[in-house]
Amino acid sequence: MPQSKSVLPVYDFSLSLNDAYREKILPLFTQHRIAANPINYALLYDYVADQNPELKKAIDALLAEKKTLEMKESQELYASFVCSASLESFETIQEKIHQVLNRASDAVDRTFSQAEQAGDGFEQKTTLLENTSDVANHQAIILDIIRETRALAATTQAMQAELTRANAEMEELRGELISVRKVATTDGLTGLLNRHAFQDVMDDIIDHEGGGAVTLAILDIDFFKQVNDTWGHPMGDSVIKYVASLVKKHVADHHHVARYGGEELVIVMPDTDKRTAWDISENIRCEMEKVRLKRKSDDQSLGEITVSIGLTEKRDDDSVDSFISRADSALYRAKQLGRNRIEEG
Ligand code: GH3
Ligand code: MG
Ligand code: MG
Repeated sequence: MPQSKSVLPVYDFSLSLNDAYREKILPLFTQHRIAANPINYALLYDYVADQNPELKKAIDALLAEKKTLEMKESQELYASFVCSASLESFETIQEKIHQVLNRASDAVDRTFSQAEQAGDGFEQKTTLLENTSDVANHQAIILDIIRETRALAATTQAMQAELTRANAEMEELRGELISVRKVATTDGLTGLLNRHAFQDVMDDIIDHEGGGAVTLAILDIDFFKQVNDTWGHPMGDSVIKYVASLVKKHVADHHHVARYGGEELVIVMPDTDKRTAWDISENIRCEMEKVRLKRKSDDQSLGEITVSIGLTEKRDDDSVDSFISRADSALYRAKQLGRNRIEEG
């Protein structure tokens, strides 16, 4: 599924990966006699990228039954599985919040207006009580007051119940918003933050000056093209996933790890000086150098796969771009100096 920050799906895979997907998509148009329009391309893109299992299941079922995709079906699939996660979730949640707030505010209004009426009634009845000496009249007035007091208590209780219900529904909606936000900020392959979320983290860090040291590390898998060429793209994807999990294992909870590009990850380390960041990076580099990943199907080892890392500490006058570009240059140097190493800038 594409990642979405606002209402638009965002596809931020590398050029070469898109090339690989295109090679898989084009024959599908011919093979299944599918119209090569943008909606079908988007559907087949998610289909070959294999990151939207529900969509894949639905397309497989349709192809098995009808051997092709017709326009109406394509539109439905697109609305349900490609765009729905972004547009509809936000709109539905917004609408639900509106309804809950309206109901709660109506309940409060009703209670206030009844309390106001009751207040007026009580005043009138007090005057009546003061001006009448007849016991039977007194009794009737007091019964009236009791009835109105009970009615008021019932309305207040109804308001309380409505507010409690609104509170529970708001909690539920908060949960829904959190999960929609998670989809919008997560990289589909690795589960790390995506590039947009990384940009937000960096903006935040540059906007809020002061505080402790912040170190940024950019990690890139060495000779990754060879991994793809030798073992195929899906295996390459598994390697990226493995590196992502390895990085997550070594960083602290308050560090942010994002997928910056195809096989490049970034680690933003607030309250962490270059020394500590270096140690973390070195642990990652060493473990990667030692580990031997294996192909599941036949246990064959992929051999040594290493990573290079560039890191740098934030300076007072840094912008997001200057901060990233220093880490990038350090990474470039690590590559130039032979890879499987860390350089700092
Ligand atoms: P270097 O040591 O200089 O980094 O060499 P490299 O081969 O890793 O560098 P290069 O940037 O030339 O190649 C990166 C490759 O990563 C190219 C592309 O095919 C592959 N790639 C990019 N994104 C993905 C992805 O999401 N999945 C897979 N499997 N491969 C990807
Ligand atoms: Mg790269
Ligand atoms: Mg690389």
